[in-house]
Amino acid sequence: MDFELTEELSMLKDMSYKFAQNELAPASRECDANEKYSMDIVKKAAQNGLVGAWIPEAYGGADAGFLGNAIITEQLSRVDMGIGLNIVAAPFGCEAIYYYGTEEQKMAYLPPVCAGEMISAGAYTEPDAGTDVAGYRTRAVKDGEDYVINGSKMFITNGTVCSFFVVQCITHPDDKRHARFSMIIVPSDAEGVTRNKIPGKMGIRSSDTAEISFEDVRVPQENVVGEEGRGFYQLMHFFDTTRPMVAAQGLGLGQACLDASVRYAKERTAFGAPLGSFQLTQAKLTEMAVRIEALRGLIYRSAYSIDSGKPDFTLAAMAKYFGGQTAVFCANAALEIHGGYGYIEEYAVQKYYRDAKILELYEGTKEAEIMTIGKVLMSK
Ligand SMILES: Cc1cc2nc3c(=O)[nH]c(=O)nc-3n(C[C@H](O)[C@H](O)[C@H](O)COP(=O)(O)OP(=O)(O)OC[C@H]3O[C@@H](n4cnc5c(N)ncnc54)[C@H](O)[C@@H]3O)c2cc1C
Repeated sequence: MDFELTEELSMLKDMSYKFAQNELAPASRECDANEKYSMDIVKKAAQNGLVGAWIPEAYGGADAGFLGNAIITEQLSRVDMGIGLNIVAAPFGCEAIYYYGTEEQKMAYLPPVCAGEMISAGAYTEPDAGTDVAGYRTRAVKDGEDYVINGSKMFITNGTVCSFFVVQCITHPDDKRHARFSMIIVPSDAEGVTRNKIPGKMGIRSSDTAEISFEDVRVPQENVVGEEGRGFYQLMHFFDTTRPMVAAQGLGLGQACLDASVRYAKERTAFGAPLGSFQLTQAKLTEMAVRIEALRGLIYRSAYSIDSGKPDFTLAAMAKYFGGQTAVFCANAALEIHGGYGYIEEYAVQKYYRDAKILELYEGTKEAEIMTIGKVLMSK
């Protein structure tokens, strides 16, 4: 067993962080304040091999595996988690195409996404069903050679900037609850698609989040991804790969909180001594550092399990659960260490605090992760 990163991964880590410092840092304040999605940054990231890095070279990716992708996510999120999300989630939804799609689908969608020429979106959540992923109601009905889709989706990342959606639809309403779904690729400019950006997010404000509605949207049957009726199970597999990546966002954000706090604790004095000389401050820094290190181990192991062809969904749920918790904990501790200054926008910790909370909500709430892990424990 070797806990060191390979030379390639180490270089990828340095390159990603440098890219984030050069490209994300200067845009961070403006994109956050104005809820601005920067396509230019996503395109530059694609030119540097940072978009869809987990995708093999044959389909346009950097072939860095999910471990490489986790490292990229961590380094970008150290600088700006929202802009970082725009980059690492530019292929969101393509996981199903890669694992279950036909060769034609893979060649049509994966290379342009990796090149930054197309953005994809995974459209699953609905206005009336989020955690209950078998409770979605969007319907796709066969009509000749086509499917006709009706329904709406909520909180869809990249919703107004994407070129296509991978949509979870009910295609087999009379089958058992979990066997009713299929994933279908829908071009975002198809007739009957309406997309409305959701403004006013608390954090990750530079990311694009939208409500999508489908009204008699007609797509050919060959847009179905994988076997009909297997959509629910494909979505479960999707979470195995995406949850460790969300955890990696928390890792990067947690590290940023720790770095900022150590710096501040050395500079700021109270009672004639640096804050960092007080054991109460050291306790907060220590707790942050230990959680970050433990999280890194969990994420890397979880990503490694995907890359070695045996994705471990319990590890993925644990990483996501602990990633959200760690980010929220570190952001809170960092803000406290900064005192009143942490509460104003001039200091980055205010943004970290706002950005952190989403990690306990999307890609499965923390309660959803507990349900997943708890079920496994009780089945033993
Ligand atoms: C910024 C942002 C981006 C997002 N991006 C995407 C995206 O790209 N694609 C996509 O499909 N979705 C996306 N989502 C949706 C996100 O995944 C859902 O919001 C999330 O899964 C929770 O669903 P919900 O909001 O419907 O909450 P609900 O499911 O209504 O849950 C509300 C609360 O009840 C709890 N709860 C629910 N069931 C139980 C239970 N059985 N036991 C105990 N507690 C329970 C939940 O944990 C939560 O605390 C995004 C959301 C946001 C905010």
